[in-house]
Amino acid sequence: MYGETDNGILGYMVDVRRDFHKYAETAWCEFRTTSRIASQLVGMGYKVLTGEEFIKQEHILGRNIDEAAEKSRALLQGAEKAWLDRMGSYTGCMAILDTGRPGPVKALRFDIDCNDVNEDLSAGHRPYDEGFSSVNPGSMHACAHDGHAAVGLALAMWLKKNESELTGSFKLIFQPAEEGVRGGYAVVKGENVDDVDYFLSLHLGLGYPTGTIVGGVTDFLGSSKFDLVYKGVGAHAGGEPNAGRNALLAGATAALGLHAIPPHRDGITRINVGVMKAGEGRNVVPSMAELKVETRGETRQLAQYVFERAMEVAKGAAVMYGVEVEGISQGEAPCSTSDKDFAELVVDASRGLAGVTERIMSGKMPGSDDASWMMEAVRSKGGKATYAIVGANLAAGHHNFRFDFDEKAMLIAYELLLSTVKAIDREYLEGRGKSRP
Ligand SMILES: [Zn+2]
Ligand SMILES: [Zn+2]
Repeated sequence: MYGETDNGILGYMVDVRRDFHKYAETAWCEFRTTSRIASQLVGMGYKVLTGEEFIKQEHILGRNIDEAAEKSRALLQGAEKAWLDRMGSYTGCMAILDTGRPGPVKALRFDIDCNDVNEDLSAGHRPYDEGFSSVNPGSMHACAHDGHAAVGLALAMWLKKNESELTGSFKLIFQPAEEGVRGGYAVVKGENVDDVDYFLSLHLGLGYPTGTIVGGVTDFLGSSKFDLVYKGVGAHAGGEPNAGRNALLAGATAALGLHAIPPHRDGITRINVGVMKAGEGRNVVPSMAELKVETRGETRQLAQYVFERAMEVAKGAAVMYGVEVEGISQGEAPCSTSDKDFAELVVDASRGLAGVTERIMSGKMPGSDDASWMMEAVRSKGGKATYAIVGANLAAGHHNFRFDFDEKAMLIAYELLLSTVKAIDREYLEGRGKSRP
């Protein structure tokens, strides 16, 4: 399927990345991507968990897809039927490698979903010029998760080849549905990181140029994503308006009220109403309205403050217009931060790597990432977690329809991960590291 090319491991990663880019799949629809990843991993000799062995239905947030249509699309685009059957309804997978020697459990997380973006199909956009732009309308890898998946597979290959030199065990988590912070919760609730001593996630780009390494991101904003659904009563707008209950006005009032929630003295809060749809026809009192909302806060208390105020505003608007409102959770991520000493270990591990020109110990997270579920789960049990950034020059910002990144950054990411894994093992062998009995 893919193999090392004349360009060695970077050539392999470029092939994988471009293949995933071309067949981009949005959150919970990563059937082809997962099947290709799982099949590669099994080919390398890994034990792979997928479907309900990996995540459970009751922990899934924000999944609203046409499963049959997505699976048949995936099949047409080269997914393996046997893997689709094994996955059942759920995407993503985890590979496990046990070296058989004592040592820490190391988990590395790679997110694999794309964005709800229509890719630019015009000259000057490299994926289009070079024939690997997305063939799936409304689906585009505009956040570099195609690169993350490629780096994860390249790392898997290296770990397997060097198994005899390593200690403890490895869990490679290929996480679905990061966008909209949906999949991380299911990964944690599936008890996949309960035994993990070291958890590392990385992101390419995020505003840093190629050559820059950030050891650990701090101050992840806790975030809640939810829909507000207003249900009123439709009526003839001219003949009997008094019989109607206007859901559009309730939704509009809520949108204004939500954006008027005061900021908080103690730190950052955010709120955004990103989508509002309402009404049926010009001469009908609108019986429905739907808002897509997100709240964020710098600490658990701040996240809770803005979320709770938002719920009060949502209900207040419903009371004003005599309509019903329901809040439906679509995604969630807690606040988190990287462990300082693990971030230092990553920065130390980057010394001497070709192409690394700047090392930064910590940087602030520009938003949210649901790796924070895994980070918090690991840290709460005494493990260590960090979220590193590997800089990459970008053609346009993240989530933009002309997004593209410097593929050479994947080689830096790959080498940084190898070198970090070796450094963790060194700590362990010298008796300084963490490992649970
Ligand atoms: Zn993103
Ligand atoms: Zn991302």
